[in-house]
Amino acid sequence: MVKSKSITSLPKSSCTGCKMCGDVCPKHCISFIEDIEGFFYPTVDENKCVDCGLCAKKCPALNVCVNEKPDYAYSAFASDKSKRDTGSSGGVFSLLASCVINDGGVVYGAAFNERLKLEHRRIVEIEDLRPLCKSKYLQSDCSGIYSNVKKDLLAGSLVLFVGTPCQCQALQNYVGDNLREKLLMVDFVCHGVPNQRLFDDNIRWNNRTFGNVRSVEFRYKGSKVQHPHTLKLEYEKNGKEKTILRMHYQDPYYFGFQKHITLRPSCYQCQWAKPDRCSDITLADFWGIEKANVGLDSKRGVSCLLLNTTKGKGYFEIIKHKLDGVNALPIDFAVNNNGCLESATLKPKNRDAFFAEWINEGYDAVVAKYLTSKRKWVFDIYYNIPTPIRKIIRKLMENRMKYE
Ligand SMILES: Cc1cc2nc3c(=O)[nH]c(=O)nc-3n(C[C@H](O)[C@H](O)[C@H](O)COP(=O)(O)OP(=O)(O)OC[C@H]3O[C@@H](n4cnc5c(N)ncnc54)[C@H](O)[C@@H]3O)c2cc1C
Repeated sequence: MVKSKSITSLPKSSCTGCKMCGDVCPKHCISFIEDIEGFFYPTVDENKCVDCGLCAKKCPALNVCVNEKPDYAYSAFASDKSKRDTGSSGGVFSLLASCVINDGGVVYGAAFNERLKLEHRRIVEIEDLRPLCKSKYLQSDCSGIYSNVKKDLLAGSLVLFVGTPCQCQALQNYVGDNLREKLLMVDFVCHGVPNQRLFDDNIRWNNRTFGNVRSVEFRYKGSKVQHPHTLKLEYEKNGKEKTILRMHYQDPYYFGFQKHITLRPSCYQCQWAKPDRCSDITLADFWGIEKANVGLDSKRGVSCLLLNTTKGKGYFEIIKHKLDGVNALPIDFAVNNNGCLESATLKPKNRDAFFAEWINEGYDAVVAKYLTSKRKWVFDIYYNIPTPIRKIIRKLMENRMKYE
């Protein structure tokens, strides 16, 4: 008999893959199956299901609950340069995490395991914080995490959870209002997630091109970096450990992510892509901060913070003395400079064709056809120009655009 109230009533294109229904089911009858595109979806064991409807009642896609739109967006970055560099934007996450851990709390965030699989992880020591820092541009596996957070909260621990907006909504729905007091939820402005299978194919591609990849770091910041979207790969070749930096257009996976053709279907209809958010604090890159004339430059990594609740505001006050570049700007300024605060990512026309060809013809075929920039040669020339001259060219181009 088909059960009427379960998660199976959710249209596939709306499922965010948060995996919370697996945690919430009292009969443990929900498991997750990878579909042909490599994204995970729930499947219900009808023999065990008692049609309690809890999975649908708590599903984030079916139960969105957001706070009031804040009036301001704050710019900020960690005063400590090394902390700023361990973050994708201004390193605010690591300051919040340190604050919670120093208070005896627990932090949950996304980290690669030793097989380069991305999963949410629980930490209680500052020494374990580094792998959680920085954006990883694929979907993190959260199975079992929601129930672990709840156990921590029931034990009276202070918990910081960081995740995509859909994962935060899932957690909020899972724990309910009664346990919210000691839970600090931080989401980020998210334009969508590709999946682990595609990421793995790119690792194999890089293994063949360079050597055995040991670690991957998106948004690498270092003295030799020419672009905020730089990938650092550590690999092993002929017994030697090596490192290579790749700008986003040089790495097929990064390029596809930036072009939005590799995202989960639900990301193109994201219900949280707006300034009213479900978390306590929202973090983002403060792209366009230079236009606010407050003497900051987003290229070095500036965070944008939305303080959505009293608790979020309270934590901002606690870490404020460790921040520089703090300015309160009207929320619409942030929205106008960050498309994913306004609406979900537009689905590119060739997105489905990309997936179909990847499935049928393999990764090498789509690297050549979809994941290589047509203007690669222009970028190659541009980034080979010495930095001071490139800066002058950029300024001239910016000025020209201003008057056009
Ligand atoms: C998939 C993705 C898409 C994003 N898209 C945008 C965007 O379009 N515009 C924008 O302004 N900002 C975007 N961001 C957010 C931005 O890159 C920074 O993560 C954010 O500004 C916080 O920076 P930070 O320096 O304070 O901390 P960071 O150290 O960068 O902290 C990142 C936090 O996010 C968690 N995290 C990292 N990857 C994932 C993941 N895949 N799933 C769940 N949690 C994760 C980490 O555990 C850590 O807690 C995106 C991030 C991700 C992961």
